Amino acid sequence: MPLKEINIFRRHGMQFVPDLRNAVLPEIFRGRPVISGDISVGETEMISNMCPVNAIEVNATVQGGLSVTCTIDLGKCVFCRECEFALPGRIRFTNDHKIATNIRERLMVASGTDQPVRLDPARVRNEIHSFFRHALKLRQVSAAGDNSTEMELNASGNVNFDMGRYGIEFVASPRHADGIVITGPISQNMSEALQICYDAIPSPKLIILAGTDAISSGIFSGSAAINREFLDIHPVDLYVPGNPPHPLTFINGILDLIGRS
Ligand code: SF4
Repeated sequence: MPLKEINIFRRHGMQFVPDLRNAVLPEIFRGRPVISGDISVGETEMISNMCPVNAIEVNATVQGGLSVTCTIDLGKCVFCRECEFALPGRIRFTNDHKIATNIRERLMVASGTDQPVRLDPARVRNEIHSFFRHALKLRQVSAAGDNSTEMELNASGNVNFDMGRYGIEFVASPRHADGIVITGPISQNMSEALQICYDAIPSPKLIILAGTDAISSGIFSGSAAINREFLDIHPVDLYVPGNPPHPLTFINGILDLIGRS
């Protein structure tokens, strides 16, 4: 091999993430938040009022002394960090990117805890492990998405993250897919197309919501242009938070879902 090419390889280093399961993101990444246990009612109300998507809730109980719990809903949070800036040292967004789960309530991060967000394997349908453990083909539907989550999903399959090494790939036709990945808040205009796409996927099939908009409709919550009836009638198998989600969040969530180590 010519010397020039060898030097290019040396300079560029390794061009892929060798271990997707244990990859660590830089400290600057906004992942799972940690909320101080001694946060006051006034502080919690203050950040709750400033949160642009109502992701912060306050629960105060007075039995045997005042107890305050502040929760951040990762299904609504757009990771703007405004609450962290307002209460430095009391709220901290860590670089923990493994925040995908199959239980919506587990996206509620409470004050005074530093527990990872995890998927519950006992709640995963049996056919997901038996059919999709070694190969999973997905059809992605952008239901009024803004292209940010879609770009990260594209990145999940590039040479850097290469989720194809696990047999996980996006396909062009729902008839070739095992499941659907929904991005965007699901607009009225996309609701019928989403249902048609879902119907075209052979059973058994799974549903993944990727990104804040898909999980909760995000900043579009309450808009008359949104129609989320699809989610009222179809159970969701995986929630992947983030605005947009990082490829490692998406890939690790799916690997947990299909039971791969
Ligand atoms: S980081 Fe999340 S919880 Fe905090 S203010 Fe922004 S959207 Fe709200």
